[in-house]
Amino acid sequence: MDIMNKARVKSPWVLHFNCGSCNGCDIEILAALAPRFDVERFGIINIGNPKQADVLLVTGPANRRNFRVLKNLYDQMPETKVVIVVGSCGSTGGVFYNCPNVLGGVDKVVPVDVYVPGCAARPEQIIDGFILGLQKLAEKGKKKVEGR
Ligand code: SF4
Repeated sequence: MDIMNKARVKSPWVLHFNCGSCNGCDIEILAALAPRFDVERFGIINIGNPKQADVLLVTGPANRRNFRVLKNLYDQMPETKVVIVVGSCGSTGGVFYNCPNVLGGVDKVVPVDVYVPGCAARPEQIIDGFILGLQKLAEKGKKKVEGR
């Protein structure tokens, strides 16, 4: 594992994007960041610049109004990157399924690596999702170093 890959996995920078959620899952993400669950102890930092992000954390379904913004954020993130979707509506459309302006889950617009279920997803589930996401980030980084 090269040094960049190791650093990414040990201290991933996360971009959080609300893609049209009800804010329920966003509140749970804040709970995961706050002192009780404190994901920062794993080196996970929430940032606002896609060009510095390793992980895209998305809540809410893809919809006609903001799918271009979602795609644009994803495209600006450097390789290697992973996408974690938090909540049922981001995974499949959930309670917004078949609404006229809703396209469906986030994977209709960008590739998704980890789906965290729940409406709303609990902070413990979000932390589990992070751990799985970081494993995938490490695998992708390893493949990149090996030229696969
Ligand atoms: S999964 Fe449920 S709680 Fe989470 S953003 Fe969607 S509707 Fe809200």
